[in-house]
Amino acid sequence: MTQVTEHGGGVWSIKVPIPDNPLGHTLVHVVDTDRGPVLIDTGWDDPEARDTLVAGLTAIGVALSGIHGVVVTHHHPDHHGLSGQVREASGAWIAMHAADTAIVRRTREAEPGTWLTYLTSKLTAVGAPEEHLAPLRAARTGGRMRTLPGLRAALPDRDIVPGELLPLAGRRLRAIWTPGHTPGHVCLHLEENHPAGLPGHGRLFSGDHLLPGISPHIGLYEDPDDSTVTDPLGDYLDSLERIGRLGVAEVLPAHQHAFPDAAGRVRELLTHHEDRLTGLLALLATPLTPWQLAERMEWNRPWDRIPYGSRNIAVSEAEAHLRRLVKLGRAEAVPGSEPVTYIAV
Ligand SMILES: [Zn+2]
Ligand SMILES: [Zn+2]
Repeated sequence: MTQVTEHGGGVWSIKVPIPDNPLGHTLVHVVDTDRGPVLIDTGWDDPEARDTLVAGLTAIGVALSGIHGVVVTHHHPDHHGLSGQVREASGAWIAMHAADTAIVRRTREAEPGTWLTYLTSKLTAVGAPEEHLAPLRAARTGGRMRTLPGLRAALPDRDIVPGELLPLAGRRLRAIWTPGHTPGHVCLHLEENHPAGLPGHGRLFSGDHLLPGISPHIGLYEDPDDSTVTDPLGDYLDSLERIGRLGVAEVLPAHQHAFPDAAGRVRELLTHHEDRLTGLLALLATPLTPWQLAERMEWNRPWDRIPYGSRNIAVSEAEAHLRRLVKLGRAEAVPGSEPVTYIAV
């Protein structure tokens, strides 16, 4: 069953399934413009997802070949995956923030071994145990490379410029740069009155930045060629506060469901992160490597039941939290420790 929701004012959402993923689906939004329909995100590159997208478009009287443009909130495959197929069928342009386009380009151009080499040295540095590193070494020497989903992703052909209106005929859709979940994540602010008269300043397509029941993953911005010490969690919290101040009438996120109280949800998330940082400080009463911290942090299941790939994501999230604590002056690296350990100050 294709599920299409009409949100009013020439905006619809289509539930596009994500294969084998607890998130379930991506909400692909369709925005009518005077030059034709524009998609906000496209869904995972998978035949069932593509069929669902096409069926959803058909249900609202739109052909895939009639899509005018694609605005991508960020480079993740559940958002950008089908963009190439949409462009192929329709000639639509694809717009993305330059920081995420750079990631797409890097992934497409990467030598197969580069990422594995980088990941191995990275995990060694954060204190991953030998049994976690062994499969990576085996993959490197054995030449058996798992294909990453982003490898075939379409290269966007337009930049989303922060703070500017997108050139959409007959609509006011402003790009708001919200780094954190990815370095080039954007929210899109539809600066038009709410069609059902809800009080507030327009509607917000929030991508993964602001979701009603999930706190998005905040990990490091991985770039093997860039040694800048970034602070993704700090970026994310700043972006959240800015979004909270917009005073929008309704949020149209890329997962779960639409919801009205953006400022309330922002407050919940800020509190959640403050509590989490405080909890981490208690753990850091004794020096811990990022890996040891990840093992002791609270996840949606016990550490020994977290699958291999998710542990890499978890340790990246632990590191993002450590970066924030160091930047706030609430933790510091223990001089001379190797792998480096951190302690609360
Ligand atoms: Zn994402
Ligand atoms: Zn997502």
